[in-house]
Amino acid sequence: MPAGVAGPTEISFDVRCFLLPVADGIVVIDTGMGGNATDIHPALERLGAGWADISDVVITHAHADHVGSLNEVLSKAGNAVVWAGEADANAVSSGISSGTASSEAQVRAAVDGAYLRGLRVIHTPGHTPGHISLLHEGEGLLFTGDAVGTMNGVMVRPPAPFTADPVEAELSLRKLARLSPHRMLFSHGAEIPDASSQLRKLIERSEPQQ
Ligand SMILES: [Zn+2]
Repeated sequence: MPAGVAGPTEISFDVRCFLLPVADGIVVIDTGMGGNATDIHPALERLGAGWADISDVVITHAHADHVGSLNEVLSKAGNAVVWAGEADANAVSSGISSGTASSEAQVRAAVDGAYLRGLRVIHTPGHTPGHISLLHEGEGLLFTGDAVGTMNGVMVRPPAPFTADPVEAELSLRKLARLSPHRMLFSHGAEIPDASSQLRKLIERSEPQQ
């Protein structure tokens, strides 16, 4: 992230996108910063797949580090349907330039409790109004988006300046903790063991930033 965006100096952090093979395609969760499509392609190849196999692109929230490469992905993945949480769908949609294969298709609203290719949509507002997390119930695998992340092996809340409503965000953390996922995968930060109990400890040990 260039200097001036999140402080006076350039900062670097990891941004994760996920590819999930499903029965009749591949679900892409988030697209990363602009220019990240070149990193998604080798991951598709490792699954023995190509751009045309992408059935769905699910955006956890309308921040640049998650939607930055959406145009580029859609220009290659002509069969993809785009999903985002209801309150973020317009923002995601406005970033899709005309001329891409899916530009005629509106971003579809991923509503709380709906299932997308076996992933349950969990509305986790706070970081953005329409932020969603996704639960693969069969595996007990939770894709958190930016509701929570890790840094150096420790579970952390997203940086306060980027969270629109910290009180809502805290309620969303509690909602995720109640799911007791077996594993959690974060948009920022590596997977850590025993994530569910780490999440409960995070909620207990500090109050939301006001
Ligand atoms: Zn992010």
